[in-house]
Amino acid sequence: MTTAKTPKKPARRAMTLAEVRAFITQLAAANPNAESELDFVDDYTLLVAVVLSAQATDASVNRATKALFRDAPTPQAMVELGEEKVGAHIRTIGLWRTKARNVVALSQQLLARFDGKVPYDRAALESLPGVGRKTANVVMNVAFGDSTMAVDTHIFRIGNRTGLAPGTTPRAVEDQLVRRIPADMLRPAHHWLILHGRYVCKARKPECWRCPAFDPCQYRMKDDLRAVGPDKAASSEAF
Ligand code: SF4
Repeated sequence: MTTAKTPKKPARRAMTLAEVRAFITQLAAANPNAESELDFVDDYTLLVAVVLSAQATDASVNRATKALFRDAPTPQAMVELGEEKVGAHIRTIGLWRTKARNVVALSQQLLARFDGKVPYDRAALESLPGVGRKTANVVMNVAFGDSTMAVDTHIFRIGNRTGLAPGTTPRAVEDQLVRRIPADMLRPAHHWLILHGRYVCKARKPECWRCPAFDPCQYRMKDDLRAVGPDKAASSEAF
């Protein structure tokens, strides 16, 4: 039995800019209407959902926020609900105690400093409890239409595995993506890449045999994985 080994450098080389364009174009064609899989109704519920989604699946967050947003759809209502009851709503999500504290605290700060609104300002967003660069990038992209690139575990892996944007830290990968992806594709590219990582270019077994962006990808193992196909593909964890 052939076993695909994890390569130290998963990509043969960095993609050329022409390959970057082709890669993103092919992902877009496969999934033209890609959007966030988190449920939200406005900027505030988006911000809370993204804070809750750290180290949790979007599906688990959506299950919890259905009742949470019914009971507390605004910063004022969230503060009135209080940390304990917020915690009861989100107990099925990892790190729920810290997240409950942060959601109530950030709601208090929105009321005290921003008139209850989500600020369109990176520094202001990152000053809120539980909000880091990745969360701020998602909010600026989805709520305000900015061409930001939030690098989560999927995008970090794809950037390195495929040669799209090699980098040793999420910030390095983000900077490469912002530099290398054509400006007119950057904002939606965030969604195309996340969905591609979640459903096709998976961590343990990338499904190269059905990948819409096979040709420009520079992953060393892609030919092997395509050859063996879905039934016999061995585990191939690169990141
Ligand atoms: S699924 Fe395979 S071919 Fe497609 S981008 Fe990922 S590693 Fe490359």
